[in-house]
Amino acid sequence: MKIAVISDIHSNLYALRQVLKEIGKLDIICCGDLVGYNPFPNEVVEMVRELEIPCVLGNHDHATITGNTTWFNPYAARAIEWTRSELSEENMEFLKTLPMVYEDMVYMVHGSPENQLEEYVFPDYPERILNRFFDYTEKDIMILGHTHVPFSLKIDNRLIFNPGAVGQPRDGNPMASFAVLDTGLKEVEFKRVEYDIDKVAREITEKGLPEFLAHRLYQGR
Ligand code: ZN
Repeated sequence: MKIAVISDIHSNLYALRQVLKEIGKLDIICCGDLVGYNPFPNEVVEMVRELEIPCVLGNHDHATITGNTTWFNPYAARAIEWTRSELSEENMEFLKTLPMVYEDMVYMVHGSPENQLEEYVFPDYPERILNRFFDYTEKDIMILGHTHVPFSLKIDNRLIFNPGAVGQPRDGNPMASFAVLDTGLKEVEFKRVEYDIDKVAREITEKGLPEFLAHRLYQGR
């Protein structure tokens, strides 16, 4: 069975729309961070709710719920503050329902099984630690988000991957990133989609979010 895996949408409605268009009729799951950084939190949360996309909690979703931005850089913290002031009560309530871990055909968590919200698992992570993560589940497919950098690794019969970020890629490629997973073959295919960055950047300026957040969309960093 093929499913689409998305992550780190971060209130980027234009990127999400293009990704959904590309995904077509496949079922979708989401590895967290619906909000933060970009200017369309309500629209993005509403789309995920409407499409009933199973989603785990990300650290930006969590900070939006709690208001605690202690570990955030000033730009991210400012965007969280703004998101908290914009998000409808209903959408805030929805964020509170998101689980830390999703386990179905796959095991999915935003950070890592050992530190569910905060751990950054980059592509150069030691294989023995990635292998250890599978102690937390019986599944042999594991999905992580949080770094905004796509990667995949097959260890024996197990697959671990990060689909990259829909709303703020950081691997040097500004196109929205997502993945198509073949659960039977345990293979993953990475996809990139162009979207209208100008529109998002303009809205970032208009809504008074930090300019830096617009620049980084163009750079994919
Ligand atoms: Zn993120």
